[in-house]
Amino acid sequence: MLDIKNLWKEVCSTIIGIEGVNAVAYSIWIDSLIPLCVKDNSLILLAPSLNNKKIVNEKYKDAICESLTRTGSMITNINVIIEQEKDLYAEEIKEYSEVTKEKPPVDTKLQFISRYTFDNFVIGDSNNLAYHAALNVAQSPGVSNTNYLGFNPLFIYGGVGLGKTHLLHSIGNYIADNMPELKVLYTTSEQLINDFVSSLASNKMVAFRTKYRSVDVLMIDDIQFLKKRTGLQEAIFHIFNDLYLNGKQIVLTSDRPPKEIETLEDRLRSRFEAGLIADIGAPNLDMRIAIIRKKMAFEKITVNDDVIYYIAEKCDSNIRELEGNLSRVVFYAKLKGLPYPDLEIAKEAISHTSTKKQGVIDSQDIINATCNYFKINKSDIIGKKKTKDLAEARMIAIYLITDMLAIPLVSIGQLFGGRDHTTIIHARDKIHTQLQEGNPQIKRAVEDIKNMLKD
Ligand code: ADP
Ligand code: MG
Repeated sequence: MLDIKNLWKEVCSTIIGIEGVNAVAYSIWIDSLIPLCVKDNSLILLAPSLNNKKIVNEKYKDAICESLTRTGSMITNINVIIEQEKDLYAEEIKEYSEVTKEKPPVDTKLQFISRYTFDNFVIGDSNNLAYHAALNVAQSPGVSNTNYLGFNPLFIYGGVGLGKTHLLHSIGNYIADNMPELKVLYTTSEQLINDFVSSLASNKMVAFRTKYRSVDVLMIDDIQFLKKRTGLQEAIFHIFNDLYLNGKQIVLTSDRPPKEIETLEDRLRSRFEAGLIADIGAPNLDMRIAIIRKKMAFEKITVNDDVIYYIAEKCDSNIRELEGNLSRVVFYAKLKGLPYPDLEIAKEAISHTSTKKQGVIDSQDIINATCNYFKINKSDIIGKKKTKDLAEARMIAIYLITDMLAIPLVSIGQLFGGRDHTTIIHARDKIHTQLQEGNPQIKRAVEDIKNMLKD
């Protein structure tokens, strides 16, 4: 039976930022809800008061349902109740509470989403190195089983929804199962900053340091959000050194490599670069199909090959969205009373969705707009030809991408036919200099293309 506590934890971990849910709203209205059971495809949540129930229903229900869908769960609706209404669900509540009683979770294990394991992770060209490095770290944390100490720290980077958090939780789950005596601590940059700030305010810096220094494995997710705040990076630097010297394992993730995290102090950056840096790229079609199949097996659902193919084709750069689309399709079929979805249903369910959020510009938009402006072909701007006009258009597109989007330079290189990141830096800097020197053509091109992108 579905572990609803775990499901709820997953919802809570991704809900901030969805449709106006901020950290304050979350901590007042959503964090206080308790998952009780499931009935008719709805997760039943207990609210502490009638008012809380009302507010959630009025303001946060859509966001919670959206976050539920994003977990890939087949449960896509909620029903908020108060204590007095519990009787209506007595049977289901009993069923679900017995499941939770069966296996008392160990402390370490509690931090981790149980579905995020190495077994549930599909391996392909784009994540092979990151997967094996993470597995290696989980099997022998701190000390690599190869001859050199190459895995400490392990630094995993890649775009949103490509499995970084999944790998961290896999390490956590693996160690909790196989080496329960080890202390593993998972945190995000945001939690770490909050912890630092409140420790500082309440004069508990000693406790802060002890907490992070006393673990066997420290994992920090989304390190790119680490801010330049007096004392913060210094404290982390010392914790980091202590752990490292004591042979403890450190694992970090980020959306870009250390050298591109501008807010990072140099000494911390060079520590981050000292171990193994592994990137995760976007999955190719075969891998996306494999991910859908794995998810189907896990959720015990049936979907025809043509539908699988359609879903996989439609979403090519974010696995979270890929899973969300699968859930949406299955849910639509259920709504229509069909045993499983056909292609028509799939189109209806997700034709309007695309990996791109409305109003958000991506690298392809910039490349397309640049091509339109200079009246050149996309294959030429990406390709190898070096005529003056093409080279200039290419450099402008590269400049605009670095200027407008937060994409790692290496990935930009990939967008332009696998060019080296130094080439990207060169292009960016060249246009930057020409803009500063007031080159009129370049200035007009950059402004016009930016305007084209606004429409
Ligand atoms: P990130 O932290 O990189 O933004 P997540 O780890 O949160 O991404 O992954 C997003 C979703 O995609 C999760 O539900 C995760 O289980 C799933 N996912 C990512 N990569 C894989 C993979 N290789 N195989 C199976 N599922 C994956
Ligand atoms: Mg993540």
